[in-house]
Amino acid sequence: MTSLRDGKGHRAYRRKQAALKRRTASENLPCYWCGSPIDTTLPINDPMEFTADHPEAVGNGGHLVRQELAPMHRRCNALKSDSAPVEIWGAS
Ligand SMILES: [Zn+2]
Repeated sequence: MTSLRDGKGHRAYRRKQAALKRRTASENLPCYWCGSPIDTTLPINDPMEFTADHPEAVGNGGHLVRQELAPMHRRCNALKSDSAPVEIWGAS
């Protein structure tokens, strides 16, 4: 079985990531996971580097309603993968 990320949507996914990175830089968007600012100029593989991922189970009882990406530190993205955040947006 092949990964979904290698499929048709991959190019669009990368383009969305790039767009979000620009927005993160221009609007100082915080990390989805920890709420701290993200320095988009950090080198690749820096733990605090910008990454983007789909926040899973946001609102609506856990359904992915939109293919929105959220900015996250590389470190936080890794943490997210290990657990199941559910109500990050709704908490504020
Ligand atoms: Zn973070």
